[in-house]
Amino acid sequence: MLRRKLFGVILVYAFLLPSFAFGQAASQSAMVAAAPAAPAKAVYTAPKEVIDKIRDEGLNKSQVMQTLSYLSDVIGERLTGSPNLKHANEWTKETLTKWGLQNAKLEAWGPFGRGWELKDFKAEVVAPYTFPVIAYPKAWSPSTKGAVTSEVVYLDAKTDANLEKYKGKLNGKIVLISEPRELKADFTGMGNRLTDEELAKMASAPNPADAARRPQPNQEQMQRRLQGFVEAAKRANFLVQEGAAVIIDNSRNGSGGTVFVQSASVAQEIPANPLEMFTSRTRLQPYQKDAESKMIPQMTMATEEYNRLVRMIKFGTDVKMTVNIQTQYHDDDPMVYNTTAEIPGTDPQLKDQLVMLGGHMDSWHAGTGATDNGAGVAVAMEAVRILQAAGLKPRRTIRIALWTGEEQGLLGSRAYVKQHFGEMQNQSPTAAFGMGGQPGTLVKGSEYDKLSAYYNLDNGTGKIRGVYLQGNSAVAPIFKAWLDPFKDLGATTLTLSNTGGTDHLSYDAIGLPGFQFIQDEIEYDARTHHSNQDVFDRIQADDMKQAATIMAAFIYQSAMMDEKIPRKDAK
Ligand SMILES: [Zn+2]
Repeated sequence: MLRRKLFGVILVYAFLLPSFAFGQAASQSAMVAAAPAAPAKAVYTAPKEVIDKIRDEGLNKSQVMQTLSYLSDVIGERLTGSPNLKHANEWTKETLTKWGLQNAKLEAWGPFGRGWELKDFKAEVVAPYTFPVIAYPKAWSPSTKGAVTSEVVYLDAKTDANLEKYKGKLNGKIVLISEPRELKADFTGMGNRLTDEELAKMASAPNPADAARRPQPNQEQMQRRLQGFVEAAKRANFLVQEGAAVIIDNSRNGSGGTVFVQSASVAQEIPANPLEMFTSRTRLQPYQKDAESKMIPQMTMATEEYNRLVRMIKFGTDVKMTVNIQTQYHDDDPMVYNTTAEIPGTDPQLKDQLVMLGGHMDSWHAGTGATDNGAGVAVAMEAVRILQAAGLKPRRTIRIALWTGEEQGLLGSRAYVKQHFGEMQNQSPTAAFGMGGQPGTLVKGSEYDKLSAYYNLDNGTGKIRGVYLQGNSAVAPIFKAWLDPFKDLGATTLTLSNTGGTDHLSYDAIGLPGFQFIQDEIEYDARTHHSNQDVFDRIQADDMKQAATIMAAFIYQSAMMDEKIPRKDAK
């Protein structure tokens, strides 16, 4: 799952555009809301013996944990563009073929940029005495010039006026660039499931198309956030100019050895209109070749140790560290690949139509991407394995897609949707997020009218509690009937709400039914999502089996019903 930060950036951008008006979003949404509902029809449900077969295979003969163990433990971290991700592409293709799926292939998208992998790493404090620290290089960080032993400096400069006092003092130094973070005792425990109360609240949520209920942004907050981005860019440029040898930031969340680690930061040029920095078109990404000279070797440290170093430095202690970061860029193939495979449909009238499911295979690099999103990949693979093992023959073709580049902005699924289903042309970036601006024109691809629905799983290891309907009220009676046989497994809730941050949005963006399941949180935000603790041992086996079973039943029934899943605008 993509962090919500990206959405925040776009929100800031949208809010400050001169042409931006929430009223525009309101008028489009009203049109959607006023569209006539599809006439009531009997809902197709699979016979009880079919559901029983799916349940037996999924709950009693599951292979989902073996699949995930290989993907996370053996193949390992799967940063977009990395050799490990390519390995995952090949392995999933082979595995799906072995299970009897057809047309398994790697579909290229891009050019993306460079691959990256860690070749050697060491970080320890060496003065006033030696002790190891928990730290991880940030993705796409360049290498240090061999092992660097140097003084550690705390850059205590929130505003650029304070940077001046560090002028001429950072060359060759190891610099702590973020603030210490206060930690509190964990009295409640970090794991949790959705309560009945929370589920009831979701079930009664208004249709997100109802613009009157859309939360209004707080202008002061937005301005502060923009100011923060500009200050950060100035600081990054200063550090590059001053020749810092290594920069270290504090884990943004977590404690007890959990470190949240993502991309290296790039010193961005600050354009005359700073707002332009926040569009991906102008922002230099760490995986672009040009970024290499604008990045300092960098890593993220566990908060307890980071805080301690800051405190030692404030006492006037001369702290030194040895840091060796050796990384390798891969420039041989700028393309990245999604893995796809099919269970061919058997009905002569419907076999050209598609039901799709998937999750994203790329991960961050400090853990093994077990919950984000090895879990979704293993569950989607298990769902098609269940149908194969149960000997079920769907009328429509079922196609699984294992995406890549999700963490960099849903890049793999967006490219795929554009290639196969179509795109919105001349659309302003804000309109893509339902926030006003030019709505654009839909240009259909060859498979646009053939798709019934896409089902996504990307909220970690938690079991399925229901489905986000993305404002599509016409599907509610269908999904309600399909959840019915799984009440005993805790899946009961339908919410009209949207959920963001993952690949179903690529479909939703062009008016195709794309759904993400509601899942229990477990330890997703508190511990695993983008951290070094995103590993197999944080996976809950029973939750995974439940999710695969329900996903299998949903895709099977979508592939068997006479009609396609209704679309939001009932076209
Ligand atoms: Zn993620």
